[in-house]
Amino acid sequence: MELKIHLVPTGEIVLTPSKDGGCCCTNCFKVVGSEGSRVTMESALTARDRVGVQDFVLLENFTSEAAFIDNLRKRFKENLIYTYIGSVLVSVNPYKELEIYSKQHMERYRGVNFYEVSPHIYAVSDNSYRAMRTERKDQCILISGESGAGKTEASKKILQYYAVTCPASDKVETVKDRLLQSNPVLEAFGNAKTLRNDNSSRFGKYMDIQFDFKGAPVGGHILNYLLEKSRVVHQNHGERNFHIFYQLIEGGDDDLLRRLGLESDTALHLIEPQYTGLQVNVFHPHCVSQGNCPKVSSINDKNEWKVVRKALSVIGFSEDEVEELLNIISSVLHLGNVQFAGDEQGNAQITTETQIKYLARLLGVEGAALKEALTHKKIIAKGEELVSPLNLEQAAYARDALSKAVYGRTFSWLVSKINESLAYQDAEYPGRKSAAVIGLLDIYGFEVFQHNSFEQFCINYCNEKLQQLFIELTLKSEQEEYEAEGITWEPVQFFNNKIICDLVEEKFKGIISILDEECLRPGDASDLTFLEKLEDKLGGHAHFVTHKLADGKTRKAMGREEFRLLHYAGEVNYNVNGFLDKNNDLLFRNLKEAMCQSENKILNLCFDQSDLTDKKRPETAATQFKASLAKLMEILMSKEPSYVRCIKPNDAKQAARFDEVLIRHQVKYLGLMENLRVRRAGFAYRRKYEIFLQRYKSLCPGTWPHWNGRPADGVATLVKHLGYKPEEYKLGRSKIFIRFPKTLFATEDALEV
Ligand code: ATP
Ligand code: MG
Repeated sequence: MELKIHLVPTGEIVLTPSKDGGCCCTNCFKVVGSEGSRVTMESALTARDRVGVQDFVLLENFTSEAAFIDNLRKRFKENLIYTYIGSVLVSVNPYKELEIYSKQHMERYRGVNFYEVSPHIYAVSDNSYRAMRTERKDQCILISGESGAGKTEASKKILQYYAVTCPASDKVETVKDRLLQSNPVLEAFGNAKTLRNDNSSRFGKYMDIQFDFKGAPVGGHILNYLLEKSRVVHQNHGERNFHIFYQLIEGGDDDLLRRLGLESDTALHLIEPQYTGLQVNVFHPHCVSQGNCPKVSSINDKNEWKVVRKALSVIGFSEDEVEELLNIISSVLHLGNVQFAGDEQGNAQITTETQIKYLARLLGVEGAALKEALTHKKIIAKGEELVSPLNLEQAAYARDALSKAVYGRTFSWLVSKINESLAYQDAEYPGRKSAAVIGLLDIYGFEVFQHNSFEQFCINYCNEKLQQLFIELTLKSEQEEYEAEGITWEPVQFFNNKIICDLVEEKFKGIISILDEECLRPGDASDLTFLEKLEDKLGGHAHFVTHKLADGKTRKAMGREEFRLLHYAGEVNYNVNGFLDKNNDLLFRNLKEAMCQSENKILNLCFDQSDLTDKKRPETAATQFKASLAKLMEILMSKEPSYVRCIKPNDAKQAARFDEVLIRHQVKYLGLMENLRVRRAGFAYRRKYEIFLQRYKSLCPGTWPHWNGRPADGVATLVKHLGYKPEEYKLGRSKIFIRFPKTLFATEDALEV
């Protein structure tokens, strides 16, 4: 038996029935041959087996994790990195360039039904776009996965898709350019090389793309979450500081570097650290060399510098602003080299005068005031100022706090500046809002390291919240569809992680409240007293564990400075060391005062006088994060979500390596099996009557070649003729629902014979 085949966008060749030319959309499979060639049934079926199914709901054994992973592996081997679970897209990082992102590929997905083409990030992009246009409802695409799984790449592909395929005009071209160019800038300042990813995003990002009534992108807005500021002063071995530092040092011309006090020889030191010591008077910035890997083979800092400089001007940064921005970047480099020695009383004295000289100029502050602020602490008690000297440890802490504050606030300024440039302005109707938006969420995935600290606690809390949203929205939409179609079904049991969200965020009782309480408590509050409070208040909680057992004995596997949370995705031990400090995120008052005097316009905006006059204590880092997450949830709840679940195939960043243990773990914590179960609990497959009839009408003399009645009646006639049993399907208001994939496969096979 011979069948016609044709090429679909991902390069897969799918069998199509030769009678009506429709695509075999439910089960595309690859065969050897070129477009338009003919293949035998046998080779086609072998091929189907080889590449697996393109939608996991069609897996016969859908509860088996092994079958799930096997399907993923088959497809990965064939470079088919995308697979659906219903409308959720699962993506496996190929760690190599695939020829599937060209303009031609984009065109193939434009305006095409989700199921008619093979799974692709463009299909998700297009689907959201069309839903936004036709239903006039805001959309959002939530991208999740662990570090290195491909979230940022996916979000860039979506943005590129809209930039290329959406209607354009001159003004729109500017917006498109700015939207695209915001990426290299934010990545330069917010991404870094880590052990897991050479271009790891160290902040969470939610970006709204705003569209007008004609469907053209007209603006954008970015929200940023929890930048990992500590990287500015500390990097682990094998990791780097934020890219921008290396780009400036490698790419900046001699004059610029000289002006910034970063003599050109610095670059030499970055490339060949062994030269250190051969030259005198050469600045060797400590905060970009701790990780001992200034050069990364996959990164070309020099080129990136040019890209970033160009992007800054496309976005609309003036030359003055760029100059001030670079002053700030270099000031952080100089701050990292400020050293202290103790005098006879043990008080800290600055030993690196050159750095102070540069810092005063770059930060636009008085050198003497800066020196004083770095070595003294000022508190105001009962209206009186008390100044006391800092010891060595305190001075180093103050210096690092200043670096983090300067960098963190500048990053927020950068985002607000980009937002100004992306802001939608209707020339005819100023103040008019855009017609609709598509939001893209690229946020850190669940993290479990050997040593987990405050940052992991926040990140994993964020993931709990997103999981909660996912459960609510997926189940809700599934339920709503059955209701809308008038179909009864048995709700699925699933683990509701609300209990863990409450454990973290509940007012007065949750971990964040207890942490804040300790941060505010004067006297002997410390990380360990915080842990004791947790034990007291949460000791009996089903998802909270410490080394103390209920019978007074000690749990051996846990350290005394740790607490364990039983997250929906697995257990994580958090070390409380540094929790109070990081949550307080304090900058001594006199450093704030010094910075408020800054003549650098950006810093002047970042360090506002209200910092000094506000009597109220600033909100702690965790409370701020909690509030920004609550806002994010509200934003996402008001939109129609699509999901992209990214998987990292191996830890070696290598192509064609499918590490099953690693993948199984991700399948688990991305909740994919649960997702599939929910999707399959009712009916594996559903299609509009018109589409179903068009595809299978040839199988029934009553409906072939034309059915003149209502499509619903046509489908009823068709399935009766095919001998579907009552338990195998249900007829809704506008769609047919089929319970098992095998029913559909049998129908497909009938078509092919
Ligand atoms: P993090 O949480 O650390 O920011 P991430 O999930 O955003 O990680 P990416 O930076 O998107 O991960 O991807 C890591 C690397 O994997 C990319 O730099 C790129 O080399 C490769 N990669 C990811 N997706 C693709 C893709 N679709 N095609 C080719 N390479 C990819
Ligand atoms: Mg990223």
